[in-house]
Amino acid sequence: MSKIRVLADHVANQIAAGEVVERPASVAKELVENSIDAGATRITIEIEAGGRRLLKVSDDGEGMVRDDAILAFERHATSKIRVTDDLAAIGTLGFRGEALASIASVARVELTTCIEGANAATRVTIDGGRMRDVKDAAHPRGTTIAVRDLFFNIPARRKFLRSEATETFHLTNLVTHYALAHPEIAFTFVNNGREVVRAAPAKDLRERAFQIFGAEFLDNMLEVNGGEPQVARVSGYVSAPRDRRTSRDSQYLFVNRRFVRDRMIGRSLSEGYRSILPHGVYPAALLFVETPLEEVDVNVHPAKTEVRFRRQAAVADAVREAVKNALASANYVPPPEPPRIPEPLMTATAAMNSVSPQPRIDFVPPPPPAPRAPLEPSGDEIARDIELMLQSAVKSVPPPKSVALPPLNSAEKFAREVTPESLSSNIRPLGQLDESFIIATDDEGLLLIDQHVAHERILFDKYRALESERRTDSQQLLVPETFDLTPAQAAVFDDLAPELENYGFELMRLSGRTVAIRATPADLPGSEARNMLAELLETVDAEKKSTAQETLRDEIAASLACHAAIKVNMPLAPEKMRWLIDRLLQTSSPTTCPHGRPVILRLKTKDILKGFHRI
Ligand code: ADP
Ligand code: MG
Repeated sequence: MSKIRVLADHVANQIAAGEVVERPASVAKELVENSIDAGATRITIEIEAGGRRLLKVSDDGEGMVRDDAILAFERHATSKIRVTDDLAAIGTLGFRGEALASIASVARVELTTCIEGANAATRVTIDGGRMRDVKDAAHPRGTTIAVRDLFFNIPARRKFLRSEATETFHLTNLVTHYALAHPEIAFTFVNNGREVVRAAPAKDLRERAFQIFGAEFLDNMLEVNGGEPQVARVSGYVSAPRDRRTSRDSQYLFVNRRFVRDRMIGRSLSEGYRSILPHGVYPAALLFVETPLEEVDVNVHPAKTEVRFRRQAAVADAVREAVKNALASANYVPPPEPPRIPEPLMTATAAMNSVSPQPRIDFVPPPPPAPRAPLEPSGDEIARDIELMLQSAVKSVPPPKSVALPPLNSAEKFAREVTPESLSSNIRPLGQLDESFIIATDDEGLLLIDQHVAHERILFDKYRALESERRTDSQQLLVPETFDLTPAQAAVFDDLAPELENYGFELMRLSGRTVAIRATPADLPGSEARNMLAELLETVDAEKKSTAQETLRDEIAASLACHAAIKVNMPLAPEKMRWLIDRLLQTSSPTTCPHGRPVILRLKTKDILKGFHRI
């Protein structure tokens, strides 16, 4: 007796769904891609219960006529390709024609759609792959697909869904990706009735990134603009080396505006940072690789999250060099090799280079990016470059040795730490030394105030007070920052988290050892939250949890104060200095920081007079 039989369509669809529909976010991915392919200018995603109960995507795209609305649910039904040759250059996000069939086989789906100028819209209802109903409905031009009770008919799959928080996190991440890839489309994301993302049509990536991540994010990013159109154009933003992430979660990578998880691009990105970021630390990135359509095969993975490049190595080079160039324009790495220059000029340039080696400046705030070196310089441009090099060579010739001056008397032995009793409220700031210390006077003489530790003291007292009042002051992050715990950190995290939440953190344990930071204390810059958590987890871990509650709270408040406090090398306006001094005087201990270091040094007028031999 023969044993082989052809599977019924709905079984085949459910099997296909195993590859395409992994979780609510993968359903959202397919639906959003369809909306983009339909030419939508506005896409709204609504979810309930992490997308399990409801996942609804509406668009104002071209819509479908009734016959197409029914056909769309057939396996291998697509309007996007016709023949095998079309696979060689796919310009749409979808093409496999299996997403709707797969989704409808594992959920209850209602599709309502209308084309321009139609008398009525069509509503198609399908439950677990079985067509229930087709009727007229009301809907403006465009399509709305509501997917309810995902995996209702496949208990084994339902069990694999994670907590609502985890699924919502993945959905948010997905919407963020598509919103970044398509600044021209308006995106709205509604979670359990609450609007989480609302992004109006933006003119470019920069504006869209601003809408989604806020101004601070962009301040810390360097613009990337490189590669070449025949192989791969590379554009977007990467983080400055001081911004360190312990996972690749903040890397948003796109190939021809398709959201991909591509190892090669991730690796080339890291290579661009070689020697300036240690192993295991990752930059943040919004990186767009654009290749000619025939250079890339997107039909590698059912969920289309992986791609294959025809010239893999050339694309890798383009990404790495574009990233390096971005870092070089901001002086984080030496500029890459200068472009090839014709013979007679070559010697002059080489000579110039030996006189004026490029200084290597690490970890300074980036100056405005220098104009990018063109790939093929024209004769005029080469002449201008040489001129510039000559000028800088002249400037960098060391000045004649300065005439030795007699040594000055040091005031070191006169400058003293200040006791709290000797402080009056009559402190007047005069200015700043090295943009790090406030120079001030009081009735007894001259004061030097360390601006960072002064602010640390102010914040420490504030956090301790807030903690005892159980009053928290926090800022929600639009897109949660994620953070990977080491196994050791994971062990202490659960004890530490409730304490941190008293200070305004909102933390969520995702799958495995990943933590999402959803909100931070109001004064803490978002970019510092992750560093602070890492440090704190390490200290607490080192102390082997034996720390008393009270000490732990001090530890948190001190760490929070340190990370939120203004830094050294930061210019301060006179009002800010005034504010800092006034607030410092109101703290519990204005002369020592939470770690026990002095905050203020004083040079008494009496000692100054002595120094000048006036007394
Ligand atoms: P694919 O996107 O790979 O073609 P799908 O199963 O995702 O396959 O969709 C099947 C077809 O249904 C698409 O080719 C398209 O013609 C139509 N379709 C799906 N979603 C929409 C939408 N939001 N607006 C207009 N047409 C759509
Ligand atoms: Mg599709």
